Amino acid sequence: MKIIQEIEQRIQQLRQQVEKANYAYYVLDDPIMEDAVYDQLYRELEKLEKKYPQLITPDSPTQRVGEQPASQFLSVAHNIPLYSLENAFNLDELMAWEKKWQRYSETEEIKSIEYVCELKIDGSALALTYENGLLIRGVTRGDGTTGEDITQNVRTIRSIPLKLTLNNPPPIIEVRGEAFLPLDEFDRINQEREQKQEALFANPRNAAAGTLRQLDPKIVDQRRLQFFAYTLHLEDTEINSQWESLNYLQSSGFLVNPHRKLCRSLEEVATYFQQWETGRKDLPYMTDGVVVKINDYSRQKALGFTQKFPRWAIALKYPAEEAVTLVKDIIVNVGRTGAVTPMAVMEPVHVAGTTVQKATLHNSDRIAQLDIRVGDTVVIRKAGEIIPEVVRVLTELRPPHSQPYQMPDRCPECRSPLKRPPTEAVTRCMNLSCRAILRGSLVHWSSRDALDIRGLGEKIVILLINNGLVNSIADLYHLTPEKIAYLERMGSKSAHKLIKAIDSSKQQPYSRVLYGLGIRYVGSVTASLLAENFPSIDQLSQASYASLSSVYGVGEEIAQSIIDWFSIEKNDDLIQQLKKVGLQLEATPPDMTTIEVSPTPFSGKTFVMTGTLPTLKRNEAKALITEAGGKVTSSISKKTDYLLVGESPGSKLKEAEKLGVHQLNETDFLTLLKEN
Ligand code: NAD
Repeated sequence: MKIIQEIEQRIQQLRQQVEKANYAYYVLDDPIMEDAVYDQLYRELEKLEKKYPQLITPDSPTQRVGEQPASQFLSVAHNIPLYSLENAFNLDELMAWEKKWQRYSETEEIKSIEYVCELKIDGSALALTYENGLLIRGVTRGDGTTGEDITQNVRTIRSIPLKLTLNNPPPIIEVRGEAFLPLDEFDRINQEREQKQEALFANPRNAAAGTLRQLDPKIVDQRRLQFFAYTLHLEDTEINSQWESLNYLQSSGFLVNPHRKLCRSLEEVATYFQQWETGRKDLPYMTDGVVVKINDYSRQKALGFTQKFPRWAIALKYPAEEAVTLVKDIIVNVGRTGAVTPMAVMEPVHVAGTTVQKATLHNSDRIAQLDIRVGDTVVIRKAGEIIPEVVRVLTELRPPHSQPYQMPDRCPECRSPLKRPPTEAVTRCMNLSCRAILRGSLVHWSSRDALDIRGLGEKIVILLINNGLVNSIADLYHLTPEKIAYLERMGSKSAHKLIKAIDSSKQQPYSRVLYGLGIRYVGSVTASLLAENFPSIDQLSQASYASLSSVYGVGEEIAQSIIDWFSIEKNDDLIQQLKKVGLQLEATPPDMTTIEVSPTPFSGKTFVMTGTLPTLKRNEAKALITEAGGKVTSSISKKTDYLLVGESPGSKLKEAEKLGVHQLNETDFLTLLKEN
């Protein structure tokens, strides 16, 4: 009983949320969520209603098509309804759709199938009527049954012919297609609106819909809308396929999208879809998928329509970079510097081509800002297609009695108290013997840019620690094949190989050892600079703050971090032991002359910062930049490569825009840094 109540409540919440989104999208042309988020919520609602049909109500948003906008235009009933399209979100769903329509068809028809593939233009559908070749009416889609008469506005669109270019035009013809705003026009309009301090359009689709419903055709005229025709309704004609009708539309004077393709199998459709997944990024207008239509009109007729869509067509949508999912748990991860990173553990969800189950929540400030709780429905994004992060919480879908999340006050690994230094956003475990820190340090030590020990990955590191074989980096060098051969999935051969790899790492140059020590802010580029300026570890450990910070590319934060590191007795012990086992702790001449600095996206790049970053403090961002080989200056010039933009940016943003300086938000920045 309780479960049914919970489901009923979820359905109610979903309906409210979808209704709210519909209103914002269709009536106000001002969406409150991304299409991908909307699609997922809508699908969840559909699925629940399918599973629990007793809970369907006639007013559910799943029971109707579109929305009738509140309008000052005349309402016009469509002669033939404008249906929506069924959606498929991947190729499996496309195959399922093919199987479904085939069930309604004869075997012969299935064998000789032809599909027309068209790009799904992200605009607003229009129905145009021509009498004896002259445009007499242009109507919006509205709720599919009734639309608004916007003929005056439609007449301003240059790619819509006022008169058909046919010698003997039929007495009546209806053409449907998509009105859209090219991307450069969309940008121009939004820039203009920004200058006038008007609200910006969220995306070209809404800008197109909003423009079409402007009361003043002069404004519509100024915004260069375009139109691609894709449907023809013509009686008593010899045209009997979608492909022919597209050609007919083109010869009648319409703009028909040139990237259409006639495919003879679903494999060809899949290839078309995959080709355009990247190709569409270069198009001067927005597309959000591919529309696949059965070519032959007689088959279309035989298949007919459901209450909402034609059975003979489907919209195959491109994967979105954002998705909705449920937070099952919030855990914390302790890194090699002791930094505690909270992570959301989520119901697996497909986003930007991969399945995601965990997303970073960065730190406690970010958690408080999001107010994310276990049980929440969240929108996640894969920033730069690398690290997934939680963008926002859909609080309307929150279960009752949920509690705000509290960061733990003890380390989940060693139970010692966690501390948050007053100047930092990060909470840390301060216990240098913490297993999590040891684990992270060893993984870092063996990583490719550090000592590059092949075969020593996280799994083996965990085994070594759990079996009490390694308590510090130096212990690695006391291992023998006999000591490790018995470890899970190891064996004698692998054991010998690993010990050999560990042994070979003693030949790695001093700069790599320095990087491998994992001193905060000391990345591989800084490590090389340090090796060059302080050619032995003893010189470095005794270097003063002034001499360290005077090195170009080092700076104050890094200097302080180095001093702090060497002031810890345990680290000093480590150095002595590494010396004993024979690691390179001095720069050899080749090490000094051919310093291996692999170029990074930040090498030699100049950064300027403006505004408050969501999680990083300015000095932290600065240290990260300098550590990665870049430099930070205070004012924008032609030489500036990047502007790092936070909340409430200052005048630097405008200057950067003027000079065309590339802008990064914190997420872009961290993503780029990860690529370092
Ligand atoms: P749809 O946009 O998924 O597909 C149908 C539409 O595709 C047609 O009406 C037509 O306008 C367009 N189209 C573009 N190219 C076409 C072509 N070559 N052939 C045929 N049609 C083509 O369906 P819909 O019913 O218009 O709208 C539902 C969608 O709108 C949802 O899936 C969602 O993505 C979006 N939506 C978003 C929100 C939000 O809050 N973000 C709210 C409501 C709806």
